[in-house]
Amino acid sequence: MKRTPINELLKSTDLGKEINVKGWVRTKRGNKSVAFINLNDGSIIHGIQIVADLTNFDENLMKLITTGSCISVNGTLVQSQGQGQAVEIQATHIEVYGSADAELYPLQKKGHTLEFLREIAHLRPRTNTFGAVLRIRHAMAFAIHKYFNDHGFYYIHTPIITGSDAEGAGAMFRVTTLDPINPPKNDKGEVNYEEDFFGKETNLTVSGQLEGELAALALSKIYTFGPTFRAENSNTARHLAEFWMIEPEVAFNDLVDNMDLAEDFLKYLIQYALEHCNDDLEFLTKMYDNELLSRLRFVVENHFERLTYTEAVEILKTTDHKFEFPVDWGADLQSEHERYLVEKHFKRPVILTHYPKEIKAFYMKQSEDGKTVKAMDVLFPGIGEIIGGSQREEDYEKLHTRILEMGIHEKDLWWYLETRKYGTCPHAGFGLGFERLILFVTGMGNIRDVIPFPRTPKNAEF
Ligand code: ATP
Ligand code: MN
Repeated sequence: MKRTPINELLKSTDLGKEINVKGWVRTKRGNKSVAFINLNDGSIIHGIQIVADLTNFDENLMKLITTGSCISVNGTLVQSQGQGQAVEIQATHIEVYGSADAELYPLQKKGHTLEFLREIAHLRPRTNTFGAVLRIRHAMAFAIHKYFNDHGFYYIHTPIITGSDAEGAGAMFRVTTLDPINPPKNDKGEVNYEEDFFGKETNLTVSGQLEGELAALALSKIYTFGPTFRAENSNTARHLAEFWMIEPEVAFNDLVDNMDLAEDFLKYLIQYALEHCNDDLEFLTKMYDNELLSRLRFVVENHFERLTYTEAVEILKTTDHKFEFPVDWGADLQSEHERYLVEKHFKRPVILTHYPKEIKAFYMKQSEDGKTVKAMDVLFPGIGEIIGGSQREEDYEKLHTRILEMGIHEKDLWWYLETRKYGTCPHAGFGLGFERLILFVTGMGNIRDVIPFPRTPKNAEF
């Protein structure tokens, strides 16, 4: 018999139908004559109740059905006698695919801490929490592609191994096949990367933006959605060494268009989650964060506050609030400053623009004031920066001068500069950290808990 997923069975009104269901046992209870098994197959957060009349089942078989075991059940879909579910299954035949030793199975009991679950990342997808997070993660990935497809964007695959170390977004992981003990050396005694696999130094990408721009200057509206890597030793609840980034890039957009796109896009994604992930969001709201659903609705229904970096610094300097780090025009804002603006001052998402050029990347469009660039960061409650973006400098001379000023090797970027020589145009884009979006949508507190296998300093076990 063909398996029916539990999400379909729970909606079914086909009472009396013979069905097959497969999944993992969450709990088994009962008495001498009957066993109640709660079975989950991950298709939905809820399990289905299996009722086994013990006169029909072998005692040894029933012993194998423990928490965590995997079984296949044939039976009849019936109206549930118990509370909490509309239907249940009256079992006629049970096959045990794999038992799970009750003494050893790490998820035998409920209520493990998230920290403990991180140590068993190979098993944590079987918990309600990670099932919910992973289904929401899927829904958000799907919604991202849907949004862009519906809005005329093309999906571009940018390289994961990059030959330029000028992306400027952070420390990089080297990619090499050279012998680490005894690498080839040149006359000066330096490692000779000409003998390396690609004939030059290569790294894992920190962003697909530069390549994305090349495509936008041909296809007009593009986006990337791929893994990015940062070798920074930032052990925070918001940083991963390997994370996924979504980077739209649009020819002919200016900074305002860019902000409009970012706001519309984020609201669409959150609305999509509210419409499609209700059971999982309700579970997470109940278990971890009772303001989650209302916070998501608030963000969808209200406009994002837009102000300049300079105006933000003014607000931060005049408040009575005590910060750990000082605020001064010219310095990057710390996450405590960003969160003060969002959570205390405006009480809504904030888009900050026109940052000092010294603290932003070389490719951002220089403002008329000569001091700032047309940058924008979108700041979210509980998260801080969720999006960083800008209008790009499309003027060859200005871009070239900035590259030299910042001591970036021009020879690494000749191809990027050529787009400003041949048919340049105004354009803008941004990067959304996928896991930061998932943090916000799930209400989870730590970024390690919204990606199946987190990569952080000293952690790559699974
Ligand atoms: P932050 O200041 O928070 O470290 P950033 O300014 O270095 O971030 P960008 O280079 O602007 O980040 O990257 C674009 C987006 O990617 C950020 O807005 C954020 O959502 C996400 N992001 C950046 N670094 C990380 C990281 N280490 N782990 C997870 N997401 C990240
Ligand atoms: Mn940024």
